[in-house]
Amino acid sequence: MKITPFISNVGVSNLSHLIDHQRKDFYTFEQIRQKVKTKNCMQYYSLLSSIPKHIKKHIRENLTDCFNTFNPEDIFLERIKNNKDIKFVYISLVNNIVHIPMQKFLKWEEKLQCDIPNLFIYFNILRKCCKNVYLINFQYKFLHRVIPTNTFLFKIHVKDSKSCSFCNVEDETIEHLFFDCPCTYQFWTVFFECLKRYFNNIELNKKNVLLGFQTLQDNLLLNLLTIITKNYIYKCKFKDKIPNIVELKFKIKNYYSLELYIARKKQ
Ligand SMILES: [Zn+2]
Repeated sequence: MKITPFISNVGVSNLSHLIDHQRKDFYTFEQIRQKVKTKNCMQYYSLLSSIPKHIKKHIRENLTDCFNTFNPEDIFLERIKNNKDIKFVYISLVNNIVHIPMQKFLKWEEKLQCDIPNLFIYFNILRKCCKNVYLINFQYKFLHRVIPTNTFLFKIHVKDSKSCSFCNVEDETIEHLFFDCPCTYQFWTVFFECLKRYFNNIELNKKNVLLGFQTLQDNLLLNLLTIITKNYIYKCKFKDKIPNIVELKFKIKNYYSLELYIARKKQ
């Protein structure tokens, strides 16, 4: 049987190349589309449906023979066959999937007007300072700049205006909402005045607040408090209310009580 050119061009020359030996059936389109490099599932399934039933039956019943003719260059498949420990499959998948969004990271440099030679240090700070999944998720998105501010919500026609939820004057960007807005800046100033009683040499600047205290990276508590505060500002935005220092203290106390409770439970 002649194989259709759209898959023969990528090295599929034998029907057995289209067999999933674990399921003892032909690959689904999802499984094979990387190999054949096409988005046209109709073309693939029409190929399969054109294979006469008795040939399909013969191929399935003689899978061992088929396997011998399977592309010997498929080293990955060979490794799966011969290894009991298949953790390498997971590692390979992760390595292939992981995509580092450098454009978004570079945007921090542009917005903060400073060099950030290693943004990953802030991910390390996050990993060390915070164990709460919700807050980790929040700061992770924050570092990737995927926080939906009004500028973005306006762009996708969810909001009628891109002006700031707090001051209603400037456009609401990440930098404005979480630091530059007069309401937010005032809030940070009051909060940092409180923190200065407990932490020496802390400086209220945009980079520290938005990304993390790199110079004080061992000061995990300070970094954690900053993340809790940013998350509180974010919640205030959606409730249309100005951040309030009394409420923030209450939130921090709640967080502390919850962590204490979890720690005692684990003991
Ligand atoms: Zn504002």
